[in-house]
Amino acid sequence: MVKRYTSYIDGKWVDTKRTFTVINPATGDVIAEVSKCGTEELGRAVCSAKQAFPAWADLGPGERAALLNKWADILERRAPEFAELETRQTGKPIIMTETFDIPFSIDNLRFFASAARVLPGMATMEYVPGHQSSIRREPLGVIGLISPWNYPMNMGVWKLGPALAAGNTVVIKPSSITPLTTLEMARAAEEAGIPAGVLNVITGPGQTVGDALVRHPDVRMISLTGDTETGKRIMTQAASTVKKLHLELGGKAPFVIFADADIEAAIQGAAMGGFINSGQDCTAATRIYVEASIYEEFVQRFVNRIERVRVGLPMNRQTEMGSLISFDHRDKVEGYVQRAVANGAKIAAGGKRPEHPDLANGAYFLPTVIVNATQDSEIVQQEVFGPVLVVLPFETEEQAVELANDTPFGLAASVWTKDVFKANRMSAKIQAGTVWINDHITIVSEMPHGGYKQSGFGKDMSIYALEDYTQIKHVMIEMNGKVYKDWHYMR
Ligand code: NAD
Repeated sequence: MVKRYTSYIDGKWVDTKRTFTVINPATGDVIAEVSKCGTEELGRAVCSAKQAFPAWADLGPGERAALLNKWADILERRAPEFAELETRQTGKPIIMTETFDIPFSIDNLRFFASAARVLPGMATMEYVPGHQSSIRREPLGVIGLISPWNYPMNMGVWKLGPALAAGNTVVIKPSSITPLTTLEMARAAEEAGIPAGVLNVITGPGQTVGDALVRHPDVRMISLTGDTETGKRIMTQAASTVKKLHLELGGKAPFVIFADADIEAAIQGAAMGGFINSGQDCTAATRIYVEASIYEEFVQRFVNRIERVRVGLPMNRQTEMGSLISFDHRDKVEGYVQRAVANGAKIAAGGKRPEHPDLANGAYFLPTVIVNATQDSEIVQQEVFGPVLVVLPFETEEQAVELANDTPFGLAASVWTKDVFKANRMSAKIQAGTVWINDHITIVSEMPHGGYKQSGFGKDMSIYALEDYTQIKHVMIEMNGKVYKDWHYMR
């Protein structure tokens, strides 16, 4: 059944007549037709967000929190439907959307509803004698939110939650590959009573409506999660209006295993960390560095573990890894593997499409382990964004730090060791926004997520995200009515 979805502007469902299709990448079936917006619809969405801003910003944080919690209640009630829709548009396993994507999105929204009520800051006091200073933390106005396809609902909430909780109004543009759960979230927001214009959803290509959103003079900030190249383009596009930016970009996380580590835990951690969401995760463990003395043993045991990963149809509850996001993307991932082999690397596991006839119509690629690659090669340096990881040996702790830091990215990393001193030294020296010790991927709404280096700047989740979606104003009051202030040298 092909369902028709329309965009959501100023509290109304707007059919633009022009459409694009959404495909289930696990089967190749068209599952939806979606309105394609142009710059005219984008202009209307920004205008409605601008008009809705003063009233939304004037609500007390408790009132905004109540609406966000009501929205979360509706999402919770509809969770099974959201899980299935997310699985159908992304090809990820239903066990993942049911246990992670949807409940974690709802938890995140509830976190921001609460956090809006406890914004921390400096004390109001006389920093200059006779002058009282206070800090106001204010919303910015209209914020443009641009989300990717890998965790569509989750990435949407990571932006919508803090932006709305802080009192901004928004125009969100989801990825054209996966707009459906964002549109259904807007439907739930409407049901929750979030006023018209506070949340608008624009659907259409990044190069046209995304670009227009970034350039629009009434949009005060852009928050993008996407490819590092898209981030660079958006920095240029945003320059003419000096917009505040929040950029969550690519990653190429190192996963460093010392010889003293619990190898069984590291093998399981690398399998889960590398192949979660078919490896289409910005923090995925993609560069596995193993201390040379245990390298051969690790590779052999890891390959045995990988062969047990159950690749299959996403709606099957036994499936641990579904399809990739699209046929084009599968071809791109395959290209990376072919070039790695042509450059002298070896495939230790996977490296091809599965042969099972049930999977013939989907964009599948087997979990793949590459060895014998060089540190400077494309497969080690660039983000493949698929189920492909590289295993490399290292000799010393210093070399492990050097290799871990040797890419343009700095989103996340993990270190596996039982030595608490080594763990602390490594966590200080690795240049990444998150460092896990003896774990990889685990995230929580209270703690920040965001990049170092070319992985971007600004934090998602946590109180730091809420701060990012506000601006700071200093208000100073002269308390004694003095004509001549102490510093006045014109008398
Ligand atoms: P993408 O950069 O292709 O697209 C992201 C969004 O940007 C989409 O909505 C797209 O339509 C829009 N867009 C593209 N060009 C644009 C332009 N010129 N102007 C305005 N908008 C434009 O990324 P993707 O392929 O959807 O997602 C995968 C990427 O996202 C990976 O690089 C991954 O690492 C990254 N990612 C990062 C994080 C993080 O937290 N750092 C999280 C998830 C995904």
